[in-house]
Amino acid sequence: MPLLHLVVSKSLVSLLSRKYGECRSICYTVTRRASIKDIIESMGIPHTEIGEICSEGEKFDFGFIPETSMTINIFGILPPFDVTCPTYLRSAPLKKIRFIADLNVSKLATLLRMSGIDAEISQDLSDKEIASLAHEKQRIVLSKDLGLLKHRKITFGRYVRSVYPEEQLKEIINFFNLKPHLLPFSRCLRCNTSLAPVEKKDILSRLQPKTRLFFHSFKICIRCDRIYWKGSHHEGMLKRMQQSGIIQV
Ligand SMILES: [Zn+2]
Repeated sequence: MPLLHLVVSKSLVSLLSRKYGECRSICYTVTRRASIKDIIESMGIPHTEIGEICSEGEKFDFGFIPETSMTINIFGILPPFDVTCPTYLRSAPLKKIRFIADLNVSKLATLLRMSGIDAEISQDLSDKEIASLAHEKQRIVLSKDLGLLKHRKITFGRYVRSVYPEEQLKEIINFFNLKPHLLPFSRCLRCNTSLAPVEKKDILSRLQPKTRLFFHSFKICIRCDRIYWKGSHHEGMLKRMQQSGIIQV
């Protein structure tokens, strides 16, 4: 049987299908003419996780059809990953850093919004619809679903490794180098829209007596009309973000 020798970098091993175990060096049986992208994805690793494909110093793109008996190294993306810069695997970069989070990481999306990062949530969309939206709206897909990230319409995506939302936030901030883009409490947690300042007198009738008494600075979501102020909820969120090292005082 014709064989390929594939060497997978350490950061990708956990994404391999069970049958490959923890093995980084794989003898792959070629059963049909297939691109390296199809071969890698058939082993379990979505194309969104690949940073470099090379053999004997030569780099290849996703469409490369390998010859049998080649040894091919497959590397993960090294952070920080700048999606606004073209690379040979992703020649059309994004203009802005914007995300669409799968429902399985919706709490991460809320924390990203809290940090001021544009993060839509897929709600009840199908995988096909999420992929189309990511493609049309130029958004990075965040998910814990390896199958979704293999969709051909998705160029930028990330399989979220961490389990807990705060850890996921740290992971995504570090991976995409989001620290320069953080603007806490500038975005609506409910609908992801940017907040605008609003005069207290214009929303007075909507405030509870204690809020009226103790708070003087307010913001409003221009889409869903939700009002925000720096109350105890705000302080609690700020503390969580400081404790997890996401923002500094
Ligand atoms: Zn809103």
